[in-house]
Amino acid sequence: MLPSRFDYHRASSVEEALSLLDDYGEDAKVLAGGQSLIPLMKLRFVSPGHLIDIDPIPGLDGIEEREGSLALGALVRHNQLASSEIITNGYPTLAAAAPQIADPIVRNLGTIGGSLAHADPAGDLGSVMLSMGANVVLRSSSGERVVPIGEFLVDTFTTSITPNELLTEIRIPTPPPRSGGSYLKLERKVGDFATVAVAVTLSLQDGTVGSAGIALTGVGLKNIEAAEAAASLHGTAPTDEAFAEAGRLAAAASNPVTDVRGTDTYKRHMVEVYTRRGLATASAMAAG
Ligand SMILES: Cc1cc2nc3c(=O)[nH]c(=O)nc-3n(C[C@H](O)[C@H](O)[C@H](O)COP(=O)(O)OP(=O)(O)OC[C@H]3O[C@@H](n4cnc5c(N)ncnc54)[C@H](O)[C@@H]3O)c2cc1C
Repeated sequence: MLPSRFDYHRASSVEEALSLLDDYGEDAKVLAGGQSLIPLMKLRFVSPGHLIDIDPIPGLDGIEEREGSLALGALVRHNQLASSEIITNGYPTLAAAAPQIADPIVRNLGTIGGSLAHADPAGDLGSVMLSMGANVVLRSSSGERVVPIGEFLVDTFTTSITPNELLTEIRIPTPPPRSGGSYLKLERKVGDFATVAVAVTLSLQDGTVGSAGIALTGVGLKNIEAAEAAASLHGTAPTDEAFAEAGRLAAAASNPVTDVRGTDTYKRHMVEVYTRRGLATASAMAAG
């Protein structure tokens, strides 16, 4: 099916995009990589009157460490994440997840900003960001606000962004020394969305778990932060028993449904298994 009629606007700067959002916000959609938006428009699930293309905006595709954080521009492509040395060397959860997103064509076009703004509960990057305690930067013509990812991801395909705001940057706290991470994804075939996936980020301090973040993909109405599971690890020795208990708590935090990818019972079980395995991997990495 063809999308319904719309006016196309090519923004050449953030300021121009924000001005267009002020003019057309409620009836407009931002276009980034188009990998989620264009299919939805073709199916006529969304029919914006105006498309604001931010792809030509220079300077929104940077990957740099700044003031204790990794700053990722909203237009950073999934493939850039997968091939970045900074990410490979210092952000293992993101490094593990990026090559598992979709297929090479989608990874060449899809952006991190688009993926998070789309807020698909089966999207991989939402869980990675939750496990790493990321913030998103939202800009409008009246200023900027920095929002924790847990407050940004509100519900299925719903975020706390307002119609006149643009997501411009994602900030991930740089993990301390002796950190590790993992992203385990169960998919029916390579390139598929997750049946279940678990993001784990962990650091060790004086032989115990200093901090931990665990988040779940595809098992609820949005990416789920398994906060109780992560909290159960703080200050404990990184043992199989502690990881098994965290796995049980993560499974209890999940809320999967039975569908073509598997039964709810199977998915919950896989959350438990992947949390346990992910923690063991991250812990071994952190221990060097
Ligand atoms: C075949 C296929 C397989 C896929 N498999 C996976 C997978 O395994 N895992 C996974 O995580 N994803 C998967 N995806 C989704 C893919 O990662 C998309 O690229 C991503 O979800 C959207 O990014 P985009 O840049 O294409 O955004 P677009 O499609 O351009 O936009 C998506 C939404 O975000 C909004 N938006 C975009 N950028 C901004 C911004 N900067 N500020 C405010 N709003 C913005 C748009 O208005 C729109 O509502 C798949 C997609 C396809 C087509």
